[in-house]
Amino acid sequence: MRSLWNDRVACNYKSDLSLRVYSSNILGRSDKLVLHGGGNTSIKSVVDGEEILFVKGSGWDLVSIKEEGFAPVRLDSLLDMAKLETLSDIDMVASQKKAMIDTSAPNPSVEAILHALIPFKVVDHTHADAIVTISNSENGKSHIKSLFPNFLIVPYVMPGFVLAKRIYEMTQWYDWEHCEGIILHNHGIFTFDNDAKESYQKMIDAVSRAEQFLDDEAPLDIDDEISPIEYDTTSLQKEITKAKGYETRLKLNTSPLAQIYASQPNLREFATRGVLTPEHIIRTKRVPLVIEDDNIEQSINNYIEEYQSYFERYATDEICLNPAPNYAVIKDIGIALFGKDERETNILNDIIEHTMIAVLRADKLGGYESISIADSFEMEYWELEQMKLK
Ligand SMILES: [Zn+2]
Repeated sequence: MRSLWNDRVACNYKSDLSLRVYSSNILGRSDKLVLHGGGNTSIKSVVDGEEILFVKGSGWDLVSIKEEGFAPVRLDSLLDMAKLETLSDIDMVASQKKAMIDTSAPNPSVEAILHALIPFKVVDHTHADAIVTISNSENGKSHIKSLFPNFLIVPYVMPGFVLAKRIYEMTQWYDWEHCEGIILHNHGIFTFDNDAKESYQKMIDAVSRAEQFLDDEAPLDIDDEISPIEYDTTSLQKEITKAKGYETRLKLNTSPLAQIYASQPNLREFATRGVLTPEHIIRTKRVPLVIEDDNIEQSINNYIEEYQSYFERYATDEICLNPAPNYAVIKDIGIALFGKDERETNILNDIIEHTMIAVLRADKLGGYESISIADSFEMEYWELEQMKLK
């Protein structure tokens, strides 16, 4: 992975926060590091004698974030929150908002407490494809351990307060000086330093190490010569609109990658093994619709029935989301994405393209393995997402 850091450009950014904007933007420019709103960054600075964490605000993308996209939160307040026994994510968001020195700034990222706990000035967090591909493979834990001996490695826990609390507990007597970064299994990676360039460079180095491992152990050659396939989407468009209850923007992807993905044996089992990084589930749902014959209506009905039984199995007092699928894998053809508009459909396409490569490569490492169904439900029905519905 190539470093996009340019000293001549970087030297124009004089303040902590403006340099933070620069290195966030170059992290965001690589789709192999973050996609559409994924990842977050922060910088610790002093304002009027007080230590302040400037952390990515929700609703901003790293690639385009500006200074006003960072939420300024009192560091002490965040560190106090980490000491609490329990805290709901809704209460955490409210407390974080109260600890801001500028209430007109956006809500801080849900990972603000975690950023506060890392005792370095600059913190970078991405969902790098290469890292989650290895982590989501059968022997992912041992591969990650041998590739990153000087990293703090954290088993999967839900993002938000529970994750921050876990890091707090794991690092009570921790030797941060010799720690090169943090890997969150099935989720992503953190790097940090007191210098913005160093922190960015550590990210590039770590991800390059993971990419090299994949090139050696799980090379993936997609034959670009495969020609596109004709597929009439009329009936799929009609049935998906009926199932969703609103007009959807359908995009068919029959790229060589999508064709190879859709031509795997035991397609239903193959394509329904879960998301690459937890926050994708909000957009993609845990599994796609798998279309293996011409009876599209029946396939969608089966999907909805299975979705409802998944909901009933794990729900306590949550509101059920629209049970219709957000994308499909069509046997031997490719994939189809169902967004509410062109923008959402393209976002889905990007996420699934990255997922397909990761799944094919992780299978070469012994088998793709995502988070459990229970953990997926917890993420899909996260109280912060439910709050928007309620
Ligand atoms: Zn994350």
